[in-house]
Amino acid sequence: MDKHDDWKTKSANIITGCSHDCLYCYSKEMAVRYGWVKLEDWPTERFRQHSFDANIKKSDRIVQYPTSHDITPVHLDQSIQFLQKIVDAGNEVMIVSKPHLECIKKICKEFVQYKKMILFRFTIGSTDDKVLKFWEPGAPCFKERLNCLKYAFNKGYQTSVSCEPMLDNHIDKVVGKVDPFVTETIWIGKANRLLGTTGRGRLVFNGKLTPESKQKALQLIEWQSDENLIKLYESLKSNNKIRWKTSISSVLQKHSLPV
Ligand code: SF4
Repeated sequence: MDKHDDWKTKSANIITGCSHDCLYCYSKEMAVRYGWVKLEDWPTERFRQHSFDANIKKSDRIVQYPTSHDITPVHLDQSIQFLQKIVDAGNEVMIVSKPHLECIKKICKEFVQYKKMILFRFTIGSTDDKVLKFWEPGAPCFKERLNCLKYAFNKGYQTSVSCEPMLDNHIDKVVGKVDPFVTETIWIGKANRLLGTTGRGRLVFNGKLTPESKQKALQLIEWQSDENLIKLYESLKSNNKIRWKTSISSVLQKHSLPV
């Protein structure tokens, strides 16, 4: 197991809502279902002072920040102050983001002395901006995310990429572009529960089910067939940075492939 596997991490968050407003967002679904936020208010980010003020102790797990929102320019300063609290308590931190260059440059500058305690994990599910814009309307384009990765890498930080969810059937293109700038791992996973088995999937709960999103979700589901995942596995299995999320490793195991 890798040091920064998701199951070994401890979550930390200070904001409710996310201006990236991804159609498949699990955090949005949960927040709306539990009544923490109204559907239409999700893209408006609300700083949670009480979460920011909470006492942070040294954890025996890596702290993952954030897990239910993102780091966007509007709350960058609070994110930096909160990251400082995390590392000051002696924690290693995994910063997970669909990154904005402005944010990554400032974080890299502020945490030079803590480089060894920080791993960046940037989410990139496609190289195609039309695809990214559809599924992640408020998030940065591919070039900006790649530039963030290059920037953090060139500044000597540990870097990782999450291709979860894969948003098209060309994830090999993402891997090819990011690989030279990844010091750690590249995680690949499916888009889960978009339509759900009873038609009440995440697109419905997130208020994003339209004829177009349904058609695109069906296309994604088709691309994520066992047969295609096995082909993808075969094409990437020699790359020792690749890691398969459970949504894919369970398929590989079913077909007796080593993961
Ligand atoms: S970036 Fe993450 S938290 Fe923000 S909307 Fe997208 S999936 Fe949700």
